Amino acid sequence: MLRWAATDPAKNLTDGLGYCFAGGGIGYTPGMSEIPNVNVTLEADIEQMLARCGVLLTKPRRVIANALLAHHQHVTAEQLYDQIRQSGHKVSRATIYNTLGLFAQKGLIRPIYIDAASTFYDSNTSHHHHFFNVDSGKLIDMKENMLPDTLAASLPPGTELETIDLVFRIRDKRR
Ligand SMILES: [Zn+2]
Repeated sequence: MLRWAATDPAKNLTDGLGYCFAGGGIGYTPGMSEIPNVNVTLEADIEQMLARCGVLLTKPRRVIANALLAHHQHVTAEQLYDQIRQSGHKVSRATIYNTLGLFAQKGLIRPIYIDAASTFYDSNTSHHHHFFNVDSGKLIDMKENMLPDTLAASLPPGTELETIDLVFRIRDKRR
């Protein structure tokens, strides 16, 4: 079942960030099992969400949103491109890159920068950190936010935390 974020979109529209779903997104909690099937209700929900975010609904954007937001996933632009092609839709790479940029700007997805060659897009925009397996190339949600209590005390004077994006690079155990 689709779980919507508890955030009030109307409030977020006025928070000055330009995000219509800041910190909420489609509202999955890290570690939740994936929701494999797109159904009509979900597609309608996604369209409503895009409209609320002021995203003009074109056919390619609809295709991209349904592929991206129907379940919780971490994908690169290239992976999404392959996924969409395999589902029988034709959307150009340029459109995918542009649309991912637009969705990220609207707070519908969260970009996770790994290195110069790869940025993942997370359909779960709630606050959470990641493991990146350098062997499998997979990005995995961390179920708990394991941050030291001393972090706040060690900030440079006169600063405060804005956001924290942690990616722990892991690898398969060597024999
Ligand atoms: Zn994630």
